Amino acid sequence: MTAKTPGAPASAPAPAAALPADATPAQRVLWLRDELDRHSYQYYVLDAPTIPDADYDALFSELQALETEHPDLLTDDSPTQRVGGAPLAAFDSVRHRVPMLSLNNGFEDDDVVSFDRRCAQGLGKTAVAAPADDLFGAADAADNAVEYSCELKFDGLAMSLRYEDGKLVQAATRGDGETGEDVTANVRTIKAIPLKLRGQAPAVLEVRGEVFMYRADFDKLNARQAEAGEKTFVNPRNAAAGSLRQLDPRITAKRPLSFFAYGLGELQGADRPPTHGVMLDGFAALGLPVCEERRVVKGAEGLLSFHRDIGARRDQLPYDIDGVVYKVNAIPEQEQLGFVSRAPRFALAHKFPAQEMTTTVEDIEVQVGRTGAITPVARLAPVFVGGVTVTNATLHNEDEIRRKDVHIGDTVIVRRAGDVIPEVVAVVLERRPADARAFVMPTACPVCGSHVEKLEGEVIARCTGGLICAAQRKQALLHFAQRRAMDIEGLGDKVVEQLVDQGIVRTPADLYKLGVAKLAALDRMADKSASNIVAAIDKSRETTLNRFIFALGIRHVGEATAKDLAKHFGKLDNLLAADEAALLEVNDVGPVVAQSIANFLAEAHNVEVIEQLRAAGVHWPESEPAARAAPLPLSGKTIVLTGTLPTLSREEAKEKLEAAGAKVAGSVSKKTDYVVAGAEAGSKLEKALALDVPVLDEDGMLKLLADNSGDAQ
Ligand code: NAD
Repeated sequence: MTAKTPGAPASAPAPAAALPADATPAQRVLWLRDELDRHSYQYYVLDAPTIPDADYDALFSELQALETEHPDLLTDDSPTQRVGGAPLAAFDSVRHRVPMLSLNNGFEDDDVVSFDRRCAQGLGKTAVAAPADDLFGAADAADNAVEYSCELKFDGLAMSLRYEDGKLVQAATRGDGETGEDVTANVRTIKAIPLKLRGQAPAVLEVRGEVFMYRADFDKLNARQAEAGEKTFVNPRNAAAGSLRQLDPRITAKRPLSFFAYGLGELQGADRPPTHGVMLDGFAALGLPVCEERRVVKGAEGLLSFHRDIGARRDQLPYDIDGVVYKVNAIPEQEQLGFVSRAPRFALAHKFPAQEMTTTVEDIEVQVGRTGAITPVARLAPVFVGGVTVTNATLHNEDEIRRKDVHIGDTVIVRRAGDVIPEVVAVVLERRPADARAFVMPTACPVCGSHVEKLEGEVIARCTGGLICAAQRKQALLHFAQRRAMDIEGLGDKVVEQLVDQGIVRTPADLYKLGVAKLAALDRMADKSASNIVAAIDKSRETTLNRFIFALGIRHVGEATAKDLAKHFGKLDNLLAADEAALLEVNDVGPVVAQSIANFLAEAHNVEVIEQLRAAGVHWPESEPAARAAPLPLSGKTIVLTGTLPTLSREEAKEKLEAAGAKVAGSVSKKTDYVVAGAEAGSKLEKALALDVPVLDEDGMLKLLADNSGDAQ
């Protein structure tokens, strides 16, 4: 590929002006063509569609219907008569020796029955719409029915691969069907596409197929893009198209593209295969990837059963498909049926219900999860997508809202695939109303009013009212009662669920007011079990400070940290009085943990519950706080060791650093204070240099220790 100067226009054409309600069919046809042309350009040329395919298909069908009703309005340049979009000027163009066509679409079962009837008529065969009652008749009909090859309709980008004497010499996009773009250099980076065919390859073989992206690869790519602060893709199709039409093949090489072969262009030096199925087997034998999900069937009933089968498994497939494709299996029969304008008569794309639709965001509210996570949720104007009516879609977190730039009032594209929670994938910016409002994250929890925290380095905002928030109650109680915390045997899921749902228990302190009668009244609770639970609660009154601290369920305070806190402060009141600076002095407590504890204790409601627990008789032996050693000279510093040091072993160096209070970590991050590098230091050193982390050699390290050796050394 010789890429010319990028010629892609910077912006898309302006939307067509609104059409008056009383427009004549002629005006409506012109308007539809303008809209369709504009969207085709966005989709095929810029790889940046602004409406979902279902919306495009609806406009397209409307235009087709109007043109059928008013044949005098049909013109050659109508989008219904053309394929795809113009090739991008940035790439050399390739003239297809055999045109690359589009496919006619069907949505309903009836469309499939008519397709079979048309094929049967054209071939002098019998259409088989449904199994006939009469056994002999059915057998006769089936004998004379049209045979079809059924495949998946991959949601990617059509590609023509030209092999000469088995070697890949050219790869071209479909473009407008006659002329495509030369993307050979990019396609050569796709590992699934052989550069050389296996076995006996014909002199010239043009393979048509789809470049696409597996969903898992797409998710990884998007995560990588988001992390690097780069643009994420709306769906795997866009990601595939955008990745392939890059002027720099090194970028394409980093994108996880795949390929399935499904058609034949020019062929020299071999006979055309007798059937489509044989052709696909032939491709596979030459080392080309061919999808396994294919079947040869007879008549409309066979087609529909393939559609049903794949439809039921669509969500389990590892890639996106937007339907299935039926092709008359015998190649001579395909030739006999031929083409109409933009599509073959012998094939039909039978689409599935759309998984992406547009709707409007009526509001953005937040939900509080069981662990206090605050999730913004878009309240949507009801929309039928992925087979159900959707009125809410998750927006994940505040950063995501900013990244996608979602405002209240916006028109958005909503996606719902399978059981996955509906998601807002993109905003249609051109439809943003003047009064659209940005979302503001509340500072107080909408459920309990406690303040909302977002710890450094985290994307999720959380409610800090862990002990009192109704949304977190069940989780908090289960955590409190677990064996490693207050160890209240018998207080499991089912019991907690009922206690909370019936409003009997709101905070852990309420547990200590429970009597046998209240518990025994619960569903499936025998008197004996109720008294066992009451006894277990009673027994839990006698505990240890570290268990009690762990039981509070403070974020980032696990068992080990709870032990460190208990040891350090000795008494609960010392912990309650500690500020962030005091918390930072605790062994293994860093800024994030300190902030989380401080936020929890700053919430008066939490402290109230702690007091109630003490008042209810929960107690533990207290001790004197651990002797407060003078802070060590390197405490709070994180140091990474790499490579071989000239005199000290890794273990010795580590001991020296730890003795001076430093934390010795295994990997380098922005938070690393120093990297001590010896001979043959590898990627850790590279990372340190990339992140501008100071690098020391052994002498430098010893000097650092000496310089900081105050009284403590
Ligand atoms: P099409 O995508 O419906 O069908 C033809 C294409 O199907 C082929 O070019 C090929 O890429 C693909 N295909 C996948 N599996 C195949 C298989 N097994 N055999 C043969 N072909 C297979 O038709 P089209 O003309 O490419 O475009 C129409 C599609 O593009 C519609 O789905 C439409 O919604 C979408 N579109 C969307 C917008 C938008 O703004 N959202 C704009 C233009 C087009």
